[in-house]
Amino acid sequence: MRSVRTQITLAFVVFSVLVISILGVILSYEIENYYFERLLASLRTETKVIAALLKESSLRSESRMELESRLNVIASAGMMRITLIDSSGVVLYDSAVPDSLLPTLENHSNRPEVIAARKSGTGANVRYSKSIDHDLVYVARSLSSSERSRGGFQNLQFVRISVELTEVNRIMYEIRFKIVLVSIFVLVLVLIVVQFISRRLTKPLTEIADMVKEIKAGNLDQKLPVRTRDEIGRLASLINEMTDKLKADIEQLKKLERVRSEFLGNVSHELRTPIFSLKGFLETLLEGAIDDPAVNKKFIEKAYHHANRLDHLLSDLIEISRIESGEMKMSFRYFDVVSFLQQAVQDSADQCAAKNQRLVVHVPDGEVMVLGDKDRLMLAVGNIIDNASKYSPAESAITVDVIDREQFVTISISDNGPGIEPEHLPRIFERFYRVDKNRSRDVGGTGLGLAIVKHIIEAHGGKISVSSEVGKGTSFSFDLKK
Ligand code: ADP
Repeated sequence: MRSVRTQITLAFVVFSVLVISILGVILSYEIENYYFERLLASLRTETKVIAALLKESSLRSESRMELESRLNVIASAGMMRITLIDSSGVVLYDSAVPDSLLPTLENHSNRPEVIAARKSGTGANVRYSKSIDHDLVYVARSLSSSERSRGGFQNLQFVRISVELTEVNRIMYEIRFKIVLVSIFVLVLVLIVVQFISRRLTKPLTEIADMVKEIKAGNLDQKLPVRTRDEIGRLASLINEMTDKLKADIEQLKKLERVRSEFLGNVSHELRTPIFSLKGFLETLLEGAIDDPAVNKKFIEKAYHHANRLDHLLSDLIEISRIESGEMKMSFRYFDVVSFLQQAVQDSADQCAAKNQRLVVHVPDGEVMVLGDKDRLMLAVGNIIDNASKYSPAESAITVDVIDREQFVTISISDNGPGIEPEHLPRIFERFYRVDKNRSRDVGGTGLGLAIVKHIIEAHGGKISVSSEVGKGTSFSFDLKK
């Protein structure tokens, strides 16, 4: 494959050669034409001068001999040939032919310049002359009646002058030579300029290619220099932006990967405890305890308790992984938050009654419609009430408040339990975070309850907030759109 630089250079060279050739041909043709026209004009003037000379000679009644010797002088001084021709084409005088040989000359009436002169006064023609091996230019002039029959020539009609074309040819040769020289010079200049431009164009491209190679190899720390504000500059800065983005994305991925393996470690750890205990009780039973009426029921109950813990843990795990993988689709509908909360309280009534706890609900009269996924919100509210009941002592009270505001409704669930120390507060929504591990396990916690609550509330565009005072109690609250 040809490089971009070679392609640009080749295109420019072909184009320049074409333009220079066309210009050269046109120019040399025009110049040649100009010189030839000038020569013709000067020869026409010469014929006029000779006509005037003939007239003057006639006035002075010069002899033919005297006139001819004067014409011979003019012809040799002007390096030309002068011919006088009569109306029927017979040559009367020729500076290049002695008079004695004149009768041997052909009749000139058919010469193109003579024919043209007879028709329109003057005529010109270029012919190759075998005898002198050169192109000759002939200019003939038909004499007017006032100029005719002078100088002792009978029926004199045409004056003809011919010169060699060597002068024009020589000038043209020189001009063509100069045109070729200038063309070569221009071509070299074009080559130099093209090399310079193409290097400027391709250098950043090479840099970009090198950089992309680095990116491919996983090196994202390099930056491309952005020197111009054209397309190439834009490309360079876009690639820089892309590497920054890639870098951030990779960092994010790495972080996610870390979180994932941490989560997996936590899960295995959480599963191990109940499975280990379950196995222990079952083994003890199998080893004979089953036949001991004093302990068998107690061991079976304990095994059941751990199986229950496993069940809770797995339900929470399934829930959180569905939420975090984005598999769980929310379905938002309008529903009455008053009856919704009454239902939630009823669902927890048994749990609270077991600890003699009071569940109080403060709701406005009538219906208050809010927008949300009722089932998911039920799970969230259930988790918060469940925690309040779990961590608060017996005989305490749990209060659910609904405050109807203009655009939204605020729900808060408060208890007068042990409270949470300020340093733990920001972390209680993390997965598997517990203030007191043993206590949480004792009351059947999984460490995932509040993480699930946070996800659900955030999926509703809200924010879960918590306030707590050690020894006094804890209050969770969030808003729902109306
Ligand atoms: P768990 O299953 O352990 O209850 P959660 O995510 O529901 O996990 O709660 C995280 C931790 O926050 C709990 O272990 C507990 O220490 C603390 N916590 C949650 N709710 C309350 C509450 N109402 N009063 C006191 N501590 C609480």
